[in-house]
Amino acid sequence: MLFPTLEHVTRLARELRALPRVEVSDELRGWSWEESPVTATQSRLLGVSDITSGFCPTGRDLYLRYVEGVRGRDNPTLQIGRLVHEVFEAGVEEAKKAVYLTWPDTDGDRVEEFMRAAGEALEKRVIRKYGLLNQEVVAWVFRRLWGMAVRTYSAAVDEARTKSRYLRLDSLVHAAVPVIAEFPIDGSTIGLSRALRVDALLPPNIMMELKTREPRRVFEVALAGYALAMEAQYGSPVNYALLTYVWVRPEAKEIMVRPKVVPISEDLRQDFIDARDERREIVEYGVDPGKPREGCPPECPYRHYCVREG
Ligand code: SF4
Repeated sequence: MLFPTLEHVTRLARELRALPRVEVSDELRGWSWEESPVTATQSRLLGVSDITSGFCPTGRDLYLRYVEGVRGRDNPTLQIGRLVHEVFEAGVEEAKKAVYLTWPDTDGDRVEEFMRAAGEALEKRVIRKYGLLNQEVVAWVFRRLWGMAVRTYSAAVDEARTKSRYLRLDSLVHAAVPVIAEFPIDGSTIGLSRALRVDALLPPNIMMELKTREPRRVFEVALAGYALAMEAQYGSPVNYALLTYVWVRPEAKEIMVRPKVVPISEDLRQDFIDARDERREIVEYGVDPGKPREGCPPECPYRHYCVREG
């Protein structure tokens, strides 16, 4: 599932209930931000992705960006990631618009027609933005993902309408497109940005992040960061989150979608807090943490700078 429907969300909630309980002590919950390991000791606010970018194991990317003022360079791996995120967000947004703007005659056919027209207009704009990628590949990825969004949400609208004739407009939007894309969270009480955005929120409080690179633990640590921020802002527990891997393989004409449920354990929370404190010290005291002994990943946006330095 890339574009979640109410059926997906209900199934996921059942699966989560069947999983072993996630035991988390109160001091590692985000709402304990006033006095616990969650407490932020410095004033500098950072994004979750600043702390868990997954590019530089030592955090030198952060040092270069915030202390030296070096700009990262775009590359094809980053562009594929942005493309998938952009189509996902637009797919959710246009599906909701389709329901609102076709009301009260909304049905699957009208939603499909609206979204196909929106997709045609969007495709040209999107393709131009990803100049480091083969343009035919960008068009293929766009059409493939957009097709998924159109089919998923037009069918979900029909399903919702057949279940109840009495749904009001806003209820129908929720029943057919229950996801909020780019959900905002204020992380400032725990030393994170006031304008964090997790890729999506599924009701009642399951966060979802999309990843187009190979699986890494650091992506799960990032989810713990968002979970702590959610708990700090809303005061309700986040025990699980969803990592949805989207692997684009144009040579095989294939896009694989692999969701992974991540328990937001104490270990993940502690690892995020440690990384947050370490990274914020780098920025606060301006200390260059040096290059990683294990070498630099090819997709790091600072290779042009560090590799030139020798
Ligand atoms: S190029 Fe290497 S040292 Fe420089 S920021 Fe990237 S991973 Fe770190």
